[in-house]
Amino acid sequence: MQHICILGSTGSIGENTIDVVLRHPERLSVYALSAHSRIEKLVAQALQTHAKVVVVPDNAARRRFIEVWPAKTSNIRPEIRVGAQALADTAADSAVSTVMAAIVGAAGLPSALAAAKAGKRILLANKEALVAAGSVFMQAVHDNKAELLPIDSEHNAIFQCLPQEGKADGAHQAAHGVRRLLLTASGGPFRETPIEALASVTPEQACAHPNWSMGRKISVDSATMLNKGLEVIEAHWLFAMPPERIQVLIHPQSVVHSMVEYHDGSVLAQLGQPDMRTPIAYGLGYPERLQSGVGMLDLAALGRLDFYMPDMQRFPCLKLALDALEAGQHACIALNAANEIAVAAFLEGKVAFSAIAQIIEIALNKSQPLGGGDLPDSLDAVLAFDSLARRHAEQACQHIMATAR
Ligand code: NAD
Ligand code: MG
Repeated sequence: MQHICILGSTGSIGENTIDVVLRHPERLSVYALSAHSRIEKLVAQALQTHAKVVVVPDNAARRRFIEVWPAKTSNIRPEIRVGAQALADTAADSAVSTVMAAIVGAAGLPSALAAAKAGKRILLANKEALVAAGSVFMQAVHDNKAELLPIDSEHNAIFQCLPQEGKADGAHQAAHGVRRLLLTASGGPFRETPIEALASVTPEQACAHPNWSMGRKISVDSATMLNKGLEVIEAHWLFAMPPERIQVLIHPQSVVHSMVEYHDGSVLAQLGQPDMRTPIAYGLGYPERLQSGVGMLDLAALGRLDFYMPDMQRFPCLKLALDALEAGQHACIALNAANEIAVAAFLEGKVAFSAIAQIIEIALNKSQPLGGGDLPDSLDAVLAFDSLARRHAEQACQHIMATAR
């Protein structure tokens, strides 16, 4: 029996995880859930899964949980833990075997890292943790013999296509015989929008992804294609691949989730419907295959699969991310932090879609390499640098808002 802690259970990945877990009561059970805002949903999930523990951000959320918990239920009310430290402690709890890291943004880094340090099986959806703290995170996984299974659909596809022996040592050496990783991208909702119209697109348009249903932040990241940039950085750390051996390909149908190219000319791909329950079930069942509730592909009905190179002019955020990976970890931390600030400002209607790239670029220009070969040595070093980049991005945001008035 696996005892699972779902960090960010009320989000899109969290909900899909519960969907898969409930299909397999004989081998999967929920130990803990966490939510940041939607406490009513957390109560419903706790009732549904019989979770033993829930983690909420503050005492107001704790009181809300108690208020909403139904008086008439035979379920035992879970233990309620409060705050960011409780999130990290729960991820490391000895009662937990498997941690689904599905908090959005760098906010998910401390708890994901705590799971790595406690040697858990980690199902990693939170790509921002690797972008901001790649070296620290991978070292913690390696040193504590944690098991890291990628949930991001592209990385899960690559993991499935890698040779068996390459999987275990991903952290330190690229798998033998592999030439390149081919990362597919749908191109998002603005793949064909006239470039001059991009400045005035709305948050609703940006969040209406043609193929995937996801949280709002990652939906905007997909629309700017910064998401694919984050994923290149994620692939670099997960699979020890140098940046020049990771290729991004636009594939509008989102059926081929990514590919591995070998030296002998073979290309292995993983295909499936665009439904996150497939990679989630893979992670939960590994090395076995579990029913996920996802339907089968009908290739004849699909008829064709298209691939082409991304246009860096249309997607300046992708270019900024690739440049940040070349520049080093200081730039990757700044890229991620500035993007979180810029996307939040865009979603709040404060800045235009096209300002996201501008804000990131300003924050990147202000970021300076870290000492010690640009490798941060601790979580604190990463978080300090992350805060500094957020301040730079906030200033850039204010400036853009003032000049737009
Ligand atoms: P979401 O916005 O739907 O959910 C985010 C979850 O994180 C919620 O449970 C929320 O309560 C929690 N959360 C938010 N801020 C928090 C904070 N400061 N502290 C603690 N908890 C907080 O997001 P999502 O779409 O489920 O994405 C989650 C992660 O998975 C992201 O890193 C995203 O990039 C990655 N991912 C998502 C998908 C997808 O299909 N949705 C695919 C690949 C990767
Ligand atoms: Mg992805």
